[in-house]
Amino acid sequence: MSHEQVSCLFCQVKNDSKLEHCTNCGMALTKHHPEGKARLSFFVKAFWGIVIFCVLMMYYLPR
Ligand SMILES: [Zn+2]
Repeated sequence: MSHEQVSCLFCQVKNDSKLEHCTNCGMALTKHHPEGKARLSFFVKAFWGIVIFCVLMMYYLPR
């Protein structure tokens, strides 16, 4: 089981899972595509950070 293979998301060519880039098209290989959720939650956090910042500014800025 040391020779896992992953198929490229772009051209469906099988690549060794140790490789970071597809041997056929050179695109980055994603094994379990874990980045989607991480990236989404990052944007959600950033969004709420901005919202909270704006609300704080509305209350703290003197008029
Ligand atoms: Zn490819």
